[in-house]
Amino acid sequence: MILPIVAYGSPVLKKKAKDITPEYPNLSELLENMYETMYGAHGVGLAAPQVGLPIRIFLVDTTPFADDESFTPEEQKQLSSFKKTFINAEILKEEGEEWAFSEGCLSIPGINEDVFRKPTVTIKYQDENFKEHTETYEGLIARVIQHEYDHIDGILFTDKLSSLKKRLIKGKLANISKGKCSAEYRMRFPAASKKR
Ligand SMILES: [Zn+2]
Repeated sequence: MILPIVAYGSPVLKKKAKDITPEYPNLSELLENMYETMYGAHGVGLAAPQVGLPIRIFLVDTTPFADDESFTPEEQKQLSSFKKTFINAEILKEEGEEWAFSEGCLSIPGINEDVFRKPTVTIKYQDENFKEHTETYEGLIARVIQHEYDHIDGILFTDKLSSLKKRLIKGKLANISKGKCSAEYRMRFPAASKKR
């Protein structure tokens, strides 16, 4: 089932999400729905807060980048087969010289901006079976993981922009939170203010 994606301005996107246990109700169904929602919106990642749940789950599938010729053939090969579910993740280390890449977010349709991040990330997480892993990723895969990880810590890519950039997109962000934006997928907007 495709779930509506929560839009910029919703309080759940600003919350630090909580760990879950294997007893979390209907977990496999939730994961299935989250994958369906991500693919339905042509996203490469989706975090639980984006479907309204303040819990530490996110998904990454970089397959859509496999045909992007701005990456080396080796990178393309890695991107073509990277699909993972991260539960209760914790970033242990981020290393290297920050690099810029134009990011977007399903919760912030129509806005793409360069974001600086470190190229190497070491992350500890549990998979769908609650088996623990510690792995190191680089480049675009690391970046998607960092973007999604930020979501479970209540951080959006727009929080990482310069104050000048923030000022320039302020109006657009306000419009998104009021539902004045277009996306080709179902969205849920923060409750409209009662003040008129
Ligand atoms: Zn996002």
